[in-house]
Amino acid sequence: MSESNQDFVRQIITADCAAGKHDGRVHTRFPPEPNGYLHIGHAKSICLNFGIAQEFGGKCNLRFDDTNPEKEDVEYVECIKEDVRWLGFDWEDRLFFASDYFQQLFDWAVKLVEKGKAYVDSQSVEEIRKGRGMGGSPGVESPYRDRSSDENLDLLMRMKAGEFEEGSHVLRAKIDMAAENLLLRDPVLYRIRKVAHHRTGEAWCIYPTYDWAHGQSDSIENITHSVCTLEFVNHRPLYDWCLEELEVFHPQQIEFARLNINHMVMSKRKLLQMVEAGHVSGWDDPRMPTLIGMRRRGFTPAAIRKFCEHIGVAKFNGVHEMSLLEFVLREDLNKCSERRMAVVDPIKVTLSNYPEGKSEDLEAINNPGDESAGKRMVPFSRQLYIERADFMEDPPKKYFRLAPGREVRLRYAYFITCQEVIKDDAGEVVEIICSYDPATRGGDAPDGRKVKGTIHWVSAAHAVTAEVREYDHLFNDPNPDSGEDGKTFLDHINPDSLRTRRDCQLEPSLENATPGQPYQFERLGYFCVDSADSAPGRLVFNRTVGLRDSWAKKQKK
Ligand code: ATP
Ligand code: MG
Repeated sequence: MSESNQDFVRQIITADCAAGKHDGRVHTRFPPEPNGYLHIGHAKSICLNFGIAQEFGGKCNLRFDDTNPEKEDVEYVECIKEDVRWLGFDWEDRLFFASDYFQQLFDWAVKLVEKGKAYVDSQSVEEIRKGRGMGGSPGVESPYRDRSSDENLDLLMRMKAGEFEEGSHVLRAKIDMAAENLLLRDPVLYRIRKVAHHRTGEAWCIYPTYDWAHGQSDSIENITHSVCTLEFVNHRPLYDWCLEELEVFHPQQIEFARLNINHMVMSKRKLLQMVEAGHVSGWDDPRMPTLIGMRRRGFTPAAIRKFCEHIGVAKFNGVHEMSLLEFVLREDLNKCSERRMAVVDPIKVTLSNYPEGKSEDLEAINNPGDESAGKRMVPFSRQLYIERADFMEDPPKKYFRLAPGREVRLRYAYFITCQEVIKDDAGEVVEIICSYDPATRGGDAPDGRKVKGTIHWVSAAHAVTAEVREYDHLFNDPNPDSGEDGKTFLDHINPDSLRTRRDCQLEPSLENATPGQPYQFERLGYFCVDSADSAPGRLVFNRTVGLRDSWAKKQKK
């Protein structure tokens, strides 16, 4: 990347390297809190942090920010590791947990107390909140603010030893109760929480706050650039204050805009709500913006990385279009997906002049854009399935597919002409009788005659049956979180975001499809096997994305 094309974060780092700051060393970290699954917003942060390390010949750590014992879970830790690896990044031997630093963080708290820069406050949570005040007017100093160092030290030790109830004392930094920035009005550094931690067990009953843990963890790991999202701008003065008071290695915090995508919500808390209320089947529901959900849906890591690169890194929050993500995805899938034929809404076609009991293998191209993908053989016989939408009894002018008396091409096979339509008692078409022209094998007429329509098909005798799931946006409203009209995001759920089609008929080679392998079903879109619900004897496919932006079309109507 040339310097002028760099985003502002990379510009800062380039300048730091040029100035010899940290001896030109670049070391970043990705610090997830293990309280939920990663979503595509996190992917942006992962790509940024690991990407910077790669580009600048530096390193990037994976650090679990596990300072909050109540909400965290080992299950999340493992899944987050898998997601980061799946995206294509490697923390090598640098997997860390903020909880590994609990002792050091405590020792540093003792140092602050000894310096007279922290004190034990024995007010209630409510009193502390009130005393902090609001912007525009100064807060009120705690009556405990001027405790002696010795008294503070004694109380802190006893807090740690478990002598006090939750909520009876906290440790606060002694900064400035009149500060304009509320976070500097003697922020809380430690709370009493008598709960076990998923890694440290019962060892601690006081836990550090984010503000006390984060910067110091960065410092311990010798992080040079601590890249985080904009909501931490107000925290930066506190981040700096702590490191300066402790006189330890001082990383630089840099904030960038969170990724938001329309028709979606992105916070773990809200995603959890969706799961708990049963609006989706789980964190890995293919409609979710979680990386496990997207992986199951058939997104490729390359497409997600490309998207993150494409949207860039900004200083102001904005909302990106879902259609852009889908565009990038299609581009990637187009390159790496083999073509297959599949009929999702089948209607039977019988070729009256094709010998009964005969079948033949016809050659089909796996990827017209990639010769190395080769060819495959597709079985053909007297009875076929085509898409119900590819036949119309009474077609409008511009309809070029099958209709009574009309000739069309079956892709890679023959020209067929519709001779007769069979209906059930309700008048619905149940079968179409066609003739085929044996001279058009492979899909071209030797006499040079042309047809306007080419449709896909599968041989009924050879087809495998599958369930196909098609997805639409989870939220109808492009901005479900706006809170307009007093509505919450849950009020904007799209009731039709999942459409399940049973008895879809696929060409037989798809029987052995495996999850993670993308396919283009000709004329329909990109699909993959569902990793959760497919099982021997039960084939389930997800539509990853359509061939075109159907949502944009819908909006225009
Ligand atoms: P959420 O609001 O979804 O719960 P979070 O910020 O609480 O997210 P963390 O686990 O604390 O989640 O985030 C880990 C890292 O990922 C942080 O550095 C955070 O800034 C970054 N991150 C989280 N969400 C986004 C997003 N939408 N865009 C970019 N970065 C994000
Ligand atoms: Mg968080």
